[in-house]
Amino acid sequence: MVIVERRKRKGPVLTPSSLPCLGKMPTINITEGCSHDCVYCYTQGYSGYPGAGRVTLLENIPELTEGEIGRKRRKPRRVYFSPSSDAFQPVPEVLDVTYRTMAILLEHGVEVAFLTKGGVPEQFLQLFADTRAGVFAQIGITTLDEDIRRVTEPNAASIMQRLEDISGLVHSGAFVRARLDPLIPGLTDTVENLEPLLAELQRRGIRSIAASYLFLRPGFGQRLSHVPGLANSTEWTWHRFADGVGGGKMIDADYRRERFARLAFLAAKHGIDVHTCACKNPDLAESKNCRIAGPPAEPSAHPKGPLFGCLEQAE
Ligand code: SF4
Repeated sequence: MVIVERRKRKGPVLTPSSLPCLGKMPTINITEGCSHDCVYCYTQGYSGYPGAGRVTLLENIPELTEGEIGRKRRKPRRVYFSPSSDAFQPVPEVLDVTYRTMAILLEHGVEVAFLTKGGVPEQFLQLFADTRAGVFAQIGITTLDEDIRRVTEPNAASIMQRLEDISGLVHSGAFVRARLDPLIPGLTDTVENLEPLLAELQRRGIRSIAASYLFLRPGFGQRLSHVPGLANSTEWTWHRFADGVGGGKMIDADYRRERFARLAFLAAKHGIDVHTCACKNPDLAESKNCRIAGPPAEPSAHPKGPLFGCLEQAE
């Protein structure tokens, strides 16, 4: 049971993220903290983190969004949810604020992009099906093994729920990708884990995935100590990520290079292409922008037609 506290956000809401893979795209966090409580979540170290089992709902996000969009001479092309939380937490008040905020953006012709490990309720699928603005969804999923999911992402959506969401989102006309992040060496990056996952993703209509590996920051060892496959993590070394992303302890570059190549080989057998996150793998020459918020915002890349060529570039 999560405790929800409410407060009003002060200041602008459409603020750009420092993540290179997001560029200068405006982003929105609906909450501080996240009820999914993933054991590896790096936002536990953020200053606004309210503590385990708690989220702070920024209840005035829809009103702020409406006001900012209305005042802007140049509307953003696309807005991303959420760099430091998840917009689809299983908390009715959170989902209500998310729904109203996304509806306002879509009504103004602003595209919506999101990454989630939560369930996407039917009313959102209807909203996405009804809009002419683009919707770019990434579903976080690294395994079909529910036991692994329960240990690492205890309050996030079940594997079956995420697979059904992929099907529902594809059906709604959204551009849908899967995000295999964070992969855990020796646990979720094995052929035995990846083969059935990729086959299922293909069956659900996925043609593109993004991938990256788990990284550890100081203070998280305790929560991760019971995760299978992390016994050797004390030997991982510190890696500096892309500018603005900091760093963390991670499996070394040679291992990642080899395993990403194997993932690409396995995925290609299912007609799926792979992008590795450039923010967290700047030491791999082959890593590219993982397009966490969908393909580049060009009219030709848009899944729903030419309306969007008239919108201005993101500020
Ligand atoms: S879903 Fe994302 S933000 Fe939420 S706990 Fe998991 S990693 Fe953190």
